[in-house]
Amino acid sequence: MKSFMQPAKYGVERRFKGIPASPGIAIGEAALRLTDEAALYNETIVPEVIESEKKRFTAAVQTIAEEYRHIFELAQNEENTVLPILETYLMILTDTLLADAIRRRIASGLSAESAVYQEFDAQKQFFTATKDPILRERAVDLDNVRERLLAGLRNATITHALAANKILMAQTVTPTDLMLYRSAGILGFATEIGGIASHSSILARSFSMPAVIGLRDAAHSVRAGEIVILDGYAGLLIVNPKPETLVKFEKRKQQEEENRQKLGKLAKLSSQTTDGRAIRLQANIDSLEDVDAAMMLGADGVGLVRTEYLIAQLQRFPTEEEQYEWYKEIAERAYPRPITIRAFDVGGDKYAEGVPHEENPALGLRGIRFLLYKKEIFSSQTRAVLRASVHRNIRLMLPMVSTLAELCAGLDFIATCKKQLAEHRIPFDADTPVGIMIETPAAAVMADDFARYADFFSIGTNDLTQYALAADRSNEYVAAIFDSFDPAVLRLMQIAVRAAKKRKIPVSVCGEIAGDPNAAELLIGMGVDELSVTPTSLLMVKKHIRKVNAAKATNLAEDAIRCSDNNEVRQFLSSRRRKAKPADSAVT
Ligand code: PEP
Ligand code: MG
Repeated sequence: MKSFMQPAKYGVERRFKGIPASPGIAIGEAALRLTDEAALYNETIVPEVIESEKKRFTAAVQTIAEEYRHIFELAQNEENTVLPILETYLMILTDTLLADAIRRRIASGLSAESAVYQEFDAQKQFFTATKDPILRERAVDLDNVRERLLAGLRNATITHALAANKILMAQTVTPTDLMLYRSAGILGFATEIGGIASHSSILARSFSMPAVIGLRDAAHSVRAGEIVILDGYAGLLIVNPKPETLVKFEKRKQQEEENRQKLGKLAKLSSQTTDGRAIRLQANIDSLEDVDAAMMLGADGVGLVRTEYLIAQLQRFPTEEEQYEWYKEIAERAYPRPITIRAFDVGGDKYAEGVPHEENPALGLRGIRFLLYKKEIFSSQTRAVLRASVHRNIRLMLPMVSTLAELCAGLDFIATCKKQLAEHRIPFDADTPVGIMIETPAAAVMADDFARYADFFSIGTNDLTQYALAADRSNEYVAAIFDSFDPAVLRLMQIAVRAAKKRKIPVSVCGEIAGDPNAAELLIGMGVDELSVTPTSLLMVKKHIRKVNAAKATNLAEDAIRCSDNNEVRQFLSSRRRKAKPADSAVT
């Protein structure tokens, strides 16, 4: 690997925090691409050149359209994400109404550049004014076409090869440029503007190219040739790093490469059974580092964010703002994959500050009960989750629900928070799915009623086992009783899965059983759609999912559930696995 251990060229280490758009670490020299477009806004022309100015505009449109068509051909063998983008660009570029409006502006005495600049700005107003973040992204399409058109008018050809083996720093980068930069061999890119849902960000992820966006004035504060580190996991740009920073990131990069080589193949494969049933394999996370690890290992999303981690870290309840920042960061790092944020599950064996002293905390003010008791805490968390939901990849989950009254009170409370945010014109995803943990026997038994109100279920087998078998999950004396493979637990799970299927809502398992190699076939056979496991178990579980035949697993699950105790279930499953082994070993 190339080493950048060399004397600092310019000044001191500078750090800029942006939005992580595509994971990965890149280290290299900065290549700059900056434009000063403000000067173009009001360029006027004399009447004699109006016709030639119009011709210049038409010629530029033709040239750029030709260029797009060329990239379109290049993209035929590329990721499918590129083609629709190019189609949109061509549509904008060849829109006759837009072109006529630009010609009218030229006729009124503006240069072609200024006419293009002003008309695109006017068209953009509609998109930027909308609250919908997806539509707002479309304003970026207009910007991209405009930039290209302006470059065409100025005959400014971009030499993409100048950025080869470097990290591109720009105000923005269009997907079409990104295609060309990628074939020139850039290491990554950092931009001042852009959203994580923008086409360039999506493209960067599909190219596995590290990218950080939204770095405000960063590109303007970097000089060409300065060494920069791009941390696409944390959304960090480090300019002119200190030797110890370089060593740290070079080590991380090397580790990343080793992991990728070791696991790369499996991480990229889908978690699908041999007969084609897709199982969403997600991660349980406690920290931002977990999110990065999960994404690197190819997780389909985050099935459980244990938000209590934040309380434990701060040793107090976090403010709405602190939570908002954390949730937003998790959602951005996982984007476009979904994340499931569980509302604080305090009480019981978890963080208990602020919970009244109770003789029997596991059966006391835990989860949703605590949240309904401390409404200001529930409110700040709900508001933070909703505010972070603008990219529409967040689900909210309520813990420890055991009665319909609790579920309805929780949903009413969330509806009130939404109303308040809407009244204050604070953007959020109004369709944020709200689901529940199924982790009390009551919730499992009542699942059919609950499924009428909940958008999804996630079965928490750790607590479901503890409560079903009346065996404390952290008491070693009853460890032999505490077994999620106990048929009592499996039968409760089956009730919940069937209710979810009947009401057509997704059902996941996020308790520890989901990461047990013996469980994949059983859970798939029960009809579970999603498994959520610790990041380190992801690939092992995927390996097992890819060996399961879903049709056969249904019979296996029915037989396992009929067993009369946990040992019988375990023996039955391992004997089936032993028998299945010779055929299985052919599948990876
Ligand atoms: C569970 O109970 O299975 C679960 C996933 O939640 P926790 O372990 O955080 O209680
Ligand atoms: Mg639990």
